[in-house]
Amino acid sequence: MNVIHLGAAMTQKVQFDQALIERYNLSGPRYTSYPTAVQFHEGFDHVAYERFVAASNAELIPRPLSVYMHLPFCNSLCYYCGCTKKITRHPEHGKAYLRALYREIEMQGALFDPDRQVQQLHLGGGTPTFFDDQQLAGLLEKLAKHFSLINDDSREYAIELDPRTVDTHRLEALQAMGFNRISLGVQDFDPDVQKAVNRIQGVDETLQLIRHAQQRGFDSVSVDLIYGLPLQTPQRFAKTLDLVVSARPNRLAVYNYAHLPHLFRAQRMIREDQVPDPATRLDLLRQTIETLTEAGYVYIGMDHFALPDDELNLAQQQGTLQRNFQGYSTNADCDLVGLGASAIGKIGDCYAQNLKTIPAWQSAVAAGDLPIWRGVTLSTEDRLRRCIIGSIMCQGEVHFPDYEHRFGIDFEQHFAFELNAIEKLSIDGLLELDNEGFVVTPRGRLLLRNVAMVFDEYLGNGTEKPKFSRVI
Ligand code: SF4
Repeated sequence: MNVIHLGAAMTQKVQFDQALIERYNLSGPRYTSYPTAVQFHEGFDHVAYERFVAASNAELIPRPLSVYMHLPFCNSLCYYCGCTKKITRHPEHGKAYLRALYREIEMQGALFDPDRQVQQLHLGGGTPTFFDDQQLAGLLEKLAKHFSLINDDSREYAIELDPRTVDTHRLEALQAMGFNRISLGVQDFDPDVQKAVNRIQGVDETLQLIRHAQQRGFDSVSVDLIYGLPLQTPQRFAKTLDLVVSARPNRLAVYNYAHLPHLFRAQRMIREDQVPDPATRLDLLRQTIETLTEAGYVYIGMDHFALPDDELNLAQQQGTLQRNFQGYSTNADCDLVGLGASAIGKIGDCYAQNLKTIPAWQSAVAAGDLPIWRGVTLSTEDRLRRCIIGSIMCQGEVHFPDYEHRFGIDFEQHFAFELNAIEKLSIDGLLELDNEGFVVTPRGRLLLRNVAMVFDEYLGNGTEKPKFSRVI
Protein backbone atom coordinates (compact mmCIF):
# COMPACT_ATOMS: atom_id res chain seq x y z
CA MET A 1 0.00 0.00 0.00
CA ASN A 2 1.27 3.51 -0.84
CA VAL A 3 2.07 5.92 1.94
CA ILE A 4 -0.10 8.92 1.19
CA HIS A 5 0.79 12.52 1.93
CA LEU A 6 -1.92 13.92 4.20
CA GLY A 7 -1.99 17.58 5.17
CA ALA A 8 -0.79 18.91 1.82
CA ALA A 9 -2.89 21.49 -0.01
CA MET A 10 -5.57 19.94 -2.22
CA THR A 11 -4.18 18.90 -5.59
CA GLN A 12 -4.34 21.55 -8.30
CA LYS A 13 -4.01 18.96 -11.00
CA VAL A 14 -7.21 17.72 -12.60
CA GLN A 15 -7.44 14.65 -14.77
CA PHE A 16 -10.38 14.70 -17.17
CA ASP A 17 -11.49 11.17 -17.89
CA GLN A 18 -14.78 11.48 -19.71
CA ALA A 19 -15.85 7.84 -19.30
CA LEU A 20 -15.09 7.89 -15.58
CA ILE A 21 -16.86 11.20 -15.04
CA GLU A 22 -19.93 10.04 -16.96
CA ARG A 23 -20.04 6.92 -14.83
CA TYR A 24 -19.93 8.98 -11.62
CA ASN A 25 -22.11 11.85 -12.84
CA LEU A 26 -24.99 11.14 -10.46
CA SER A 27 -27.17 13.68 -8.71
CA GLY A 28 -25.82 14.71 -5.37
CA PRO A 29 -25.90 17.41 -2.71
CA ARG A 30 -23.49 20.34 -2.85
CA TYR A 31 -22.92 19.93 0.92
CA THR A 32 -23.28 23.59 1.86
CA SER A 33 -24.59 21.99 5.05
CA TYR A 34 -24.67 18.52 6.55
CA PRO A 35 -27.27 17.23 7.12
CA THR A 36 -28.61 18.89 3.97
CA ALA A 37 -31.86 20.86 3.90
CA VAL A 38 -33.73 17.69 2.87
CA GLN A 39 -33.31 16.52 6.47
CA PHE A 40 -34.70 19.71 8.01
CA HIS A 41 -38.09 19.05 9.65
CA GLU A 42 -40.86 21.10 11.15
CA GLY A 43 -40.48 19.47 14.55
CA PHE A 44 -37.59 21.90 14.98
CA ASP A 45 -39.33 25.15 15.91
CA HIS A 46 -38.60 28.57 17.39
CA VAL A 47 -38.40 27.10 20.90
CA ALA A 48 -35.60 24.77 19.83
CA TYR A 49 -33.88 27.65 18.03
CA GLU A 50 -34.06 29.92 21.09
CA ARG A 51 -32.60 27.12 23.21
CA PHE A 52 -29.60 26.84 20.90
CA VAL A 53 -29.07 30.61 20.90
CA ALA A 54 -29.21 30.73 24.72
CA ALA A 55 -26.69 27.87 24.93
CA SER A 56 -24.38 29.63 22.47
CA ASN A 57 -24.54 32.85 24.53
CA ALA A 58 -23.66 30.86 27.66
CA GLU A 59 -20.44 29.41 26.29
CA LEU A 60 -17.23 30.47 28.01
CA ILE A 61 -16.14 32.38 24.93
CA PRO A 62 -19.24 32.87 22.74
CA ARG A 63 -18.55 32.65 19.02
CA PRO A 64 -18.75 35.82 16.92
CA LEU A 65 -21.65 36.15 14.53
CA SER A 66 -22.11 35.98 10.82
CA VAL A 67 -25.36 37.52 9.58
CA TYR A 68 -27.03 36.61 6.29
CA MET A 69 -29.92 38.74 5.07
CA HIS A 70 -32.05 37.50 2.21
CA LEU A 71 -33.45 40.26 -0.01
CA PRO A 72 -35.54 38.34 -2.51
CA PHE A 73 -36.66 40.90 -5.11
CA CYS A 74 -35.54 41.23 -8.71
CA ASN A 75 -36.62 43.48 -11.56
CA SER A 76 -36.60 40.71 -14.16
CA LEU A 77 -36.42 36.94 -14.28
CA CYS A 78 -33.24 35.07 -15.26
CA TYR A 79 -34.50 31.80 -16.68
CA TYR A 80 -31.80 29.65 -15.05
CA CYS A 81 -32.70 30.90 -11.56
CA GLY A 82 -33.30 28.48 -8.71
CA CYS A 83 -33.32 31.09 -5.92
CA THR A 84 -36.20 32.12 -3.67
CA LYS A 85 -37.16 35.47 -5.18
CA LYS A 86 -40.05 37.63 -6.35
CA ILE A 87 -39.96 39.41 -9.68
CA THR A 88 -41.55 42.83 -9.35
CA ARG A 89 -41.19 46.42 -10.38
CA HIS A 90 -43.39 47.62 -7.52
CA PRO A 91 -41.31 49.29 -4.81
CA GLU A 92 -44.27 48.77 -2.42
CA HIS A 93 -43.48 45.05 -2.21
CA GLY A 94 -39.96 45.90 -1.14
CA LYS A 95 -41.13 48.39 1.47
CA ALA A 96 -43.44 45.88 3.17
CA TYR A 97 -40.63 43.35 3.18
CA LEU A 98 -38.22 45.82 4.79
CA ARG A 99 -40.73 46.62 7.52
CA ALA A 100 -40.95 42.92 8.36
CA LEU A 101 -37.16 42.57 8.20
CA TYR A 102 -36.79 45.42 10.70
CA ARG A 103 -39.13 43.56 13.04
CA GLU A 104 -37.22 40.32 12.61
CA ILE A 105 -33.92 42.13 13.29
CA GLU A 106 -35.42 43.37 16.59
CA MET A 107 -36.59 39.87 17.57
CA GLN A 108 -33.37 38.11 16.63
CA GLY A 109 -31.16 40.89 18.05
CA ALA A 110 -32.88 40.52 21.44
CA LEU A 111 -31.82 36.84 21.58
CA PHE A 112 -28.08 37.34 21.17
CA ASP A 113 -25.64 38.59 23.75
CA PRO A 114 -24.79 42.18 22.69
CA ASP A 115 -21.06 41.47 23.14
CA ARG A 116 -21.10 39.06 20.22
CA GLN A 117 -19.71 40.98 17.29
CA VAL A 118 -20.89 40.55 13.73
CA GLN A 119 -17.67 39.58 12.02
CA GLN A 120 -19.31 38.71 8.70
CA LEU A 121 -22.34 40.19 7.02
CA HIS A 122 -23.72 39.02 3.70
CA LEU A 123 -26.63 40.54 1.82
CA GLY A 124 -27.85 38.10 -0.78
CA GLY A 125 -30.88 37.54 -2.90
CA GLY A 126 -32.69 38.02 -5.15
CA THR A 127 -31.01 41.30 -5.90
CA PRO A 128 -30.07 43.26 -2.78
CA THR A 129 -29.52 46.33 -4.96
CA PHE A 130 -33.20 46.18 -5.96
CA PHE A 131 -33.44 48.43 -2.90
CA ASP A 132 -32.16 51.98 -3.22
CA ASP A 133 -29.25 53.41 -1.25
CA GLN A 134 -31.46 55.05 1.33
CA GLN A 135 -33.26 51.77 2.02
CA LEU A 136 -30.01 49.81 2.29
CA ALA A 137 -28.43 52.43 4.56
CA GLY A 138 -31.57 52.32 6.74
CA LEU A 139 -31.30 48.54 6.93
CA LEU A 140 -27.69 48.68 8.09
CA GLU A 141 -28.54 51.33 10.67
CA LYS A 142 -31.31 49.13 11.98
CA LEU A 143 -28.98 46.16 12.14
CA ALA A 144 -26.40 48.26 14.00
CA LYS A 145 -29.01 49.14 16.65
CA HIS A 146 -29.69 45.49 17.47
CA PHE A 147 -26.37 43.76 16.74
CA SER A 148 -22.74 44.76 17.38
CA LEU A 149 -21.40 45.66 13.96
CA ILE A 150 -17.66 46.11 13.49
CA ASN A 151 -16.32 49.36 12.09
CA ASP A 152 -12.69 48.42 11.53
CA ASP A 153 -10.96 46.58 8.69
CA SER A 154 -11.41 43.18 10.35
CA ARG A 155 -15.05 43.14 9.25
CA GLU A 156 -16.09 41.14 6.20
CA TYR A 157 -19.25 42.86 5.00
CA ALA A 158 -20.34 41.71 1.58
CA ILE A 159 -23.19 42.48 -0.78
CA GLU A 160 -24.20 40.70 -3.96
CA LEU A 161 -24.48 43.16 -6.84
CA ASP A 162 -26.41 42.90 -10.03
CA PRO A 163 -24.32 45.13 -12.34
CA ARG A 164 -27.54 46.07 -14.13
CA THR A 165 -28.69 47.93 -11.02
CA VAL A 166 -25.43 49.49 -9.82
CA ASP A 167 -23.19 52.20 -11.25
CA THR A 168 -19.93 53.58 -9.86
CA HIS A 169 -21.77 56.18 -7.74
CA ARG A 170 -23.86 53.48 -6.08
CA LEU A 171 -20.73 51.49 -5.45
CA GLU A 172 -19.25 54.41 -3.53
CA ALA A 173 -22.47 54.78 -1.55
CA LEU A 174 -22.32 51.08 -0.61
CA GLN A 175 -18.72 51.48 0.52
CA ALA A 176 -19.72 54.46 2.67
CA MET A 177 -22.34 52.23 4.34
CA GLY A 178 -19.57 49.84 5.42
CA PHE A 179 -19.49 47.17 2.72
CA ASN A 180 -15.92 46.16 1.93
CA ARG A 181 -16.62 43.12 -0.27
CA ILE A 182 -18.75 42.69 -3.34
CA SER A 183 -19.74 39.79 -5.46
CA LEU A 184 -21.08 40.35 -8.95
CA GLY A 185 -23.27 38.08 -11.01
CA VAL A 186 -21.88 37.82 -14.53
CA GLN A 187 -22.75 34.24 -15.66
CA ASP A 188 -21.82 34.73 -19.34
CA PHE A 189 -21.09 37.79 -21.50
CA ASP A 190 -22.13 36.18 -24.77
CA PRO A 191 -25.13 38.09 -26.20
CA ASP A 192 -26.91 34.96 -27.49
CA VAL A 193 -26.50 33.12 -24.20
CA GLN A 194 -27.69 36.23 -22.36
CA LYS A 195 -30.77 36.33 -24.58
CA ALA A 196 -31.48 32.64 -24.04
CA VAL A 197 -31.47 33.12 -20.25
CA ASN A 198 -33.13 36.57 -20.30
CA ARG A 199 -30.26 38.35 -18.61
CA ILE A 200 -28.89 41.10 -20.82
CA GLN A 201 -25.90 42.67 -19.14
CA GLY A 202 -23.30 44.99 -20.70
CA VAL A 203 -19.64 43.97 -20.70
CA ASP A 204 -18.24 47.50 -20.33
CA GLU A 205 -20.47 48.46 -17.40
CA THR A 206 -19.61 45.24 -15.55
CA LEU A 207 -15.85 45.52 -16.07
CA GLN A 208 -15.91 49.19 -15.16
CA LEU A 209 -17.64 48.32 -11.91
CA ILE A 210 -14.97 45.74 -11.05
CA ARG A 211 -12.16 48.19 -11.80
CA HIS A 212 -13.84 50.94 -9.82
CA ALA A 213 -14.23 48.65 -6.80
CA GLN A 214 -10.54 47.76 -7.03
CA GLN A 215 -9.52 51.44 -7.26
CA ARG A 216 -11.74 52.31 -4.30
CA GLY A 217 -9.94 49.69 -2.20
CA PHE A 218 -12.67 47.09 -1.65
CA ASP A 219 -11.04 44.14 0.16
CA SER A 220 -12.50 41.58 -2.18
CA VAL A 221 -14.22 41.52 -5.56
CA SER A 222 -15.78 38.23 -6.51
CA VAL A 223 -17.42 37.25 -9.81
CA ASP A 224 -19.98 34.49 -10.40
CA LEU A 225 -20.02 32.56 -13.68
CA ILE A 226 -22.20 29.64 -14.75
CA TYR A 227 -21.29 26.87 -17.16
CA GLY A 228 -23.85 24.63 -18.86
CA LEU A 229 -26.20 27.48 -19.85
CA PRO A 230 -28.15 27.24 -23.12
CA LEU A 231 -26.16 27.93 -26.30
CA GLN A 232 -22.84 27.97 -24.43
CA THR A 233 -19.91 26.54 -26.35
CA PRO A 234 -16.23 26.53 -25.44
CA GLN A 235 -15.59 29.14 -28.18
CA ARG A 236 -18.22 31.52 -26.81
CA PHE A 237 -17.31 30.94 -23.17
CA ALA A 238 -13.61 31.57 -23.91
CA LYS A 239 -14.41 35.24 -24.53
CA THR A 240 -16.24 35.55 -21.21
CA LEU A 241 -13.35 33.93 -19.36
CA ASP A 242 -10.77 36.18 -21.05
CA LEU A 243 -12.75 39.32 -20.26
CA VAL A 244 -13.21 38.36 -16.62
CA VAL A 245 -9.57 37.34 -16.19
CA SER A 246 -8.49 40.68 -17.67
CA ALA A 247 -10.34 42.43 -14.82
CA ARG A 248 -8.50 40.31 -12.19
CA PRO A 249 -11.19 39.84 -9.52
CA ASN A 250 -9.88 38.30 -6.28
CA ARG A 251 -12.24 35.34 -6.53
CA LEU A 252 -14.45 33.56 -9.01
CA ALA A 253 -17.24 31.13 -8.29
CA VAL A 254 -18.03 28.99 -11.34
CA TYR A 255 -21.28 27.12 -10.90
CA ASN A 256 -22.69 24.25 -12.82
CA TYR A 257 -26.14 25.05 -14.26
CA ALA A 258 -28.54 22.43 -12.92
CA HIS A 259 -31.46 22.08 -15.33
CA LEU A 260 -34.29 20.98 -13.04
CA PRO A 261 -37.45 22.47 -14.60
CA HIS A 262 -39.67 20.15 -12.50
CA LEU A 263 -38.34 21.97 -9.43
CA PHE A 264 -37.74 25.50 -10.74
CA ARG A 265 -40.55 26.98 -12.79
CA ALA A 266 -38.33 29.68 -14.37
CA GLN A 267 -36.23 27.00 -16.04
CA ARG A 268 -39.23 25.89 -18.12
CA MET A 269 -38.48 29.00 -20.23
CA ILE A 270 -35.19 27.43 -21.27
CA ARG A 271 -35.23 25.41 -24.46
CA GLU A 272 -34.13 21.92 -23.55
CA ASP A 273 -32.50 21.43 -26.97
CA GLN A 274 -30.25 24.43 -26.32
CA VAL A 275 -28.80 23.06 -23.07
CA PRO A 276 -25.26 21.74 -23.74
CA ASP A 277 -24.84 17.96 -23.74
CA PRO A 278 -22.67 16.27 -21.09
CA ALA A 279 -19.56 16.20 -23.32
CA THR A 280 -19.83 19.96 -23.99
CA ARG A 281 -20.39 20.66 -20.29
CA LEU A 282 -17.25 18.76 -19.48
CA ASP A 283 -15.34 20.71 -22.15
CA LEU A 284 -16.63 23.95 -20.65
CA LEU A 285 -15.48 22.87 -17.22
CA ARG A 286 -12.07 21.78 -18.49
CA GLN A 287 -11.64 25.07 -20.33
CA THR A 288 -12.65 27.06 -17.25
CA ILE A 289 -10.21 25.27 -14.97
CA GLU A 290 -7.35 25.49 -17.48
CA THR A 291 -7.93 29.15 -18.32
CA LEU A 292 -8.21 30.26 -14.72
CA THR A 293 -5.29 28.24 -13.37
CA GLU A 294 -3.08 29.34 -16.28
CA ALA A 295 -4.07 32.93 -15.41
CA GLY A 296 -2.69 32.38 -11.89
CA TYR A 297 -5.86 31.48 -9.97
CA VAL A 298 -5.82 28.66 -7.44
CA TYR A 299 -8.61 26.06 -7.73
CA ILE A 300 -10.43 26.01 -4.38
CA GLY A 301 -12.65 23.16 -3.28
CA MET A 302 -15.38 22.26 -5.71
CA ASP A 303 -16.13 25.38 -7.70
CA HIS A 304 -14.15 28.40 -6.51
CA PHE A 305 -10.97 30.08 -7.78
CA ALA A 306 -8.89 32.63 -5.90
CA LEU A 307 -5.75 34.67 -6.42
CA PRO A 308 -2.80 33.15 -4.51
CA ASP A 309 -2.79 35.89 -1.84
CA ASP A 310 -6.55 35.60 -1.21
CA GLU A 311 -7.65 34.33 2.23
CA LEU A 312 -9.52 31.44 0.60
CA ASN A 313 -6.30 30.06 -0.79
CA LEU A 314 -4.43 30.59 2.48
CA ALA A 315 -7.27 28.81 4.31
CA GLN A 316 -7.17 25.89 1.87
CA GLN A 317 -3.42 25.58 2.44
CA GLN A 318 -3.73 25.80 6.22
CA GLY A 319 -6.62 23.34 6.40
CA THR A 320 -9.06 25.92 7.79
CA LEU A 321 -11.30 26.33 4.74
CA GLN A 322 -15.03 25.95 5.48
CA ARG A 323 -18.02 25.04 3.37
CA ASN A 324 -21.09 27.20 3.96
CA PHE A 325 -24.25 28.43 2.28
CA GLN A 326 -22.32 30.99 0.23
CA GLY A 327 -19.91 28.31 -1.02
CA TYR A 328 -16.58 28.50 0.79
CA SER A 329 -15.47 30.72 3.64
CA THR A 330 -12.52 31.22 5.95
CA ASN A 331 -14.46 31.70 9.18
CA ALA A 332 -15.00 28.47 11.03
CA ASP A 333 -16.00 29.79 14.36
CA CYS A 334 -19.03 32.00 13.69
CA ASP A 335 -22.65 31.29 14.48
CA LEU A 336 -24.78 32.17 11.47
CA VAL A 337 -27.95 34.23 11.90
CA GLY A 338 -30.30 33.99 8.90
CA LEU A 339 -32.73 36.87 8.39
CA GLY A 340 -35.47 37.18 5.79
CA ALA A 341 -37.72 34.72 3.97
CA SER A 342 -36.12 31.27 3.48
CA ALA A 343 -32.84 32.28 5.18
CA ILE A 344 -30.94 29.52 6.97
CA GLY A 345 -29.05 29.98 10.23
CA LYS A 346 -26.56 27.72 11.97
CA ILE A 347 -26.20 28.09 15.70
CA GLY A 348 -23.94 25.61 17.48
CA ASP A 349 -25.11 22.17 16.44
CA CYS A 350 -28.35 23.13 14.74
CA TYR A 351 -29.58 24.50 11.45
CA ALA A 352 -32.77 26.58 11.34
CA GLN A 353 -34.60 27.83 8.28
CA ASN A 354 -37.12 30.65 8.07
CA LEU A 355 -40.50 30.28 6.40
CA LYS A 356 -39.88 30.06 2.69
CA THR A 357 -42.53 32.18 1.04
CA ILE A 358 -42.56 35.93 1.51
CA PRO A 359 -46.25 36.11 2.62
CA ALA A 360 -45.86 33.32 5.21
CA TRP A 361 -42.65 34.83 6.57
CA GLN A 362 -44.21 38.33 6.72
CA SER A 363 -47.35 37.08 8.50
CA ALA A 364 -45.33 35.27 11.16
CA VAL A 365 -43.18 38.33 11.79
CA ALA A 366 -46.23 40.63 11.85
CA ALA A 367 -47.74 38.36 14.54
CA GLY A 368 -44.57 38.83 16.60
CA ASP A 369 -43.33 35.25 16.07
CA LEU A 370 -39.85 34.19 15.15
CA PRO A 371 -40.46 32.94 11.59
CA ILE A 372 -38.65 29.60 11.98
CA TRP A 373 -40.14 27.03 9.60
CA ARG A 374 -37.94 23.99 10.12
CA GLY A 375 -34.48 22.87 11.09
CA VAL A 376 -32.44 20.05 12.50
CA THR A 377 -30.49 19.30 15.67
CA LEU A 378 -27.26 17.50 14.89
CA SER A 379 -26.61 14.21 16.64
CA THR A 380 -23.04 13.23 17.53
CA GLU A 381 -23.06 11.01 14.43
CA ASP A 382 -24.14 13.99 12.28
CA ARG A 383 -21.32 16.11 13.71
CA LEU A 384 -18.78 13.40 13.00
CA ARG A 385 -20.00 13.01 9.42
CA ARG A 386 -20.22 16.79 8.94
CA CYS A 387 -16.53 17.08 9.87
CA ILE A 388 -15.55 14.30 7.46
CA ILE A 389 -17.65 15.66 4.59
CA GLY A 390 -16.28 19.17 5.25
CA SER A 391 -12.73 17.85 5.10
CA ILE A 392 -13.41 16.13 1.77
CA MET A 393 -15.10 19.17 0.23
CA CYS A 394 -12.49 21.66 1.51
CA GLN A 395 -9.20 19.76 1.82
CA GLY A 396 -9.80 16.69 -0.35
CA GLU A 397 -8.60 14.34 2.35
CA VAL A 398 -9.55 12.51 5.53
CA HIS A 399 -7.08 11.65 8.29
CA PHE A 400 -8.63 8.84 10.37
CA PRO A 401 -6.80 9.46 13.70
CA ASP A 402 -8.20 13.03 13.87
CA TYR A 403 -11.72 11.64 14.20
CA GLU A 404 -10.70 8.78 16.47
CA HIS A 405 -9.29 11.27 18.99
CA ARG A 406 -12.05 13.79 18.67
CA PHE A 407 -15.06 11.47 18.60
CA GLY A 408 -13.71 8.47 20.49
CA ILE A 409 -14.27 5.99 17.65
CA ASP A 410 -12.28 3.31 15.89
CA PHE A 411 -12.54 4.71 12.35
CA GLU A 412 -12.19 1.38 10.55
CA GLN A 413 -14.83 -0.27 12.71
CA HIS A 414 -17.23 2.66 12.74
CA PHE A 415 -17.03 3.20 9.00
CA ALA A 416 -16.52 -0.38 7.81
CA PHE A 417 -19.35 -0.03 5.25
CA GLU A 418 -18.14 3.35 4.00
CA LEU A 419 -14.52 2.21 3.77
CA ASN A 420 -15.64 -0.59 1.52
CA ALA A 421 -17.09 2.03 -0.85
CA ILE A 422 -13.97 4.20 -0.45
CA GLU A 423 -11.83 1.25 -1.45
CA LYS A 424 -13.84 0.92 -4.68
CA LEU A 425 -13.27 4.63 -5.40
CA SER A 426 -9.57 4.08 -4.80
CA ILE A 427 -9.56 1.17 -7.28
CA ASP A 428 -11.09 3.61 -9.81
CA GLY A 429 -8.25 6.03 -9.01
CA LEU A 430 -10.37 8.78 -7.42
CA LEU A 431 -8.30 8.67 -4.26
CA GLU A 432 -5.28 7.14 -2.60
CA LEU A 433 -5.98 5.16 0.54
CA ASP A 434 -3.82 3.77 3.35
CA ASN A 435 -4.29 2.84 7.01
CA GLU A 436 -4.15 6.47 8.14
CA GLY A 437 -6.60 8.02 5.71
CA PHE A 438 -7.20 8.95 2.09
CA VAL A 439 -6.40 11.78 -0.30
CA VAL A 440 -8.33 12.76 -3.43
CA THR A 441 -6.20 12.41 -6.58
CA PRO A 442 -6.23 14.52 -9.79
CA ARG A 443 -8.57 11.86 -11.22
CA GLY A 444 -11.03 12.40 -8.34
CA ARG A 445 -10.64 16.17 -8.11
CA LEU A 446 -13.88 16.88 -10.01
CA LEU A 447 -15.73 14.21 -8.08
CA LEU A 448 -15.38 15.52 -4.51
CA ARG A 449 -19.14 15.29 -4.08
CA ASN A 450 -19.09 11.59 -4.96
CA VAL A 451 -16.46 10.96 -2.30
CA ALA A 452 -18.41 13.02 0.24
CA MET A 453 -21.65 11.17 -0.60
CA VAL A 454 -20.11 7.95 0.75
CA PHE A 455 -20.28 9.45 4.26
CA ASP A 456 -23.79 10.86 3.90
CA GLU A 457 -25.90 8.66 6.12
CA TYR A 458 -29.14 9.96 4.62
CA LEU A 459 -28.48 9.04 0.99
CA GLY A 460 -29.07 5.37 1.61
CA ASN A 461 -27.54 3.03 -0.90
CA GLY A 462 -26.44 5.66 -3.43
CA THR A 463 -29.64 5.75 -5.46
CA GLU A 464 -30.04 8.93 -7.44
CA LYS A 465 -31.91 11.72 -5.75
CA PRO A 466 -33.62 13.98 -8.29
CA LYS A 467 -33.77 16.80 -5.73
CA PHE A 468 -30.09 17.48 -6.32
CA SER A 469 -28.11 18.67 -9.31
CA ARG A 470 -25.71 16.41 -11.18
CA VAL A 471 -22.13 16.40 -10.01
CA ILE A 472 -20.77 17.90 -13.28
S1 SF4 B 1 -30.55 34.84 -10.91
FE1 SF4 B 1 -30.41 36.42 -9.39
S2 SF4 B 1 -31.03 38.30 -10.47
FE2 SF4 B 1 -31.72 36.58 -11.73
S3 SF4 B 1 -33.83 36.17 -11.10
FE3 SF4 B 1 -32.52 34.84 -9.88
S4 SF4 B 1 -32.11 35.95 -8.00
FE4 SF4 B 1 -32.88 37.43 -9.53
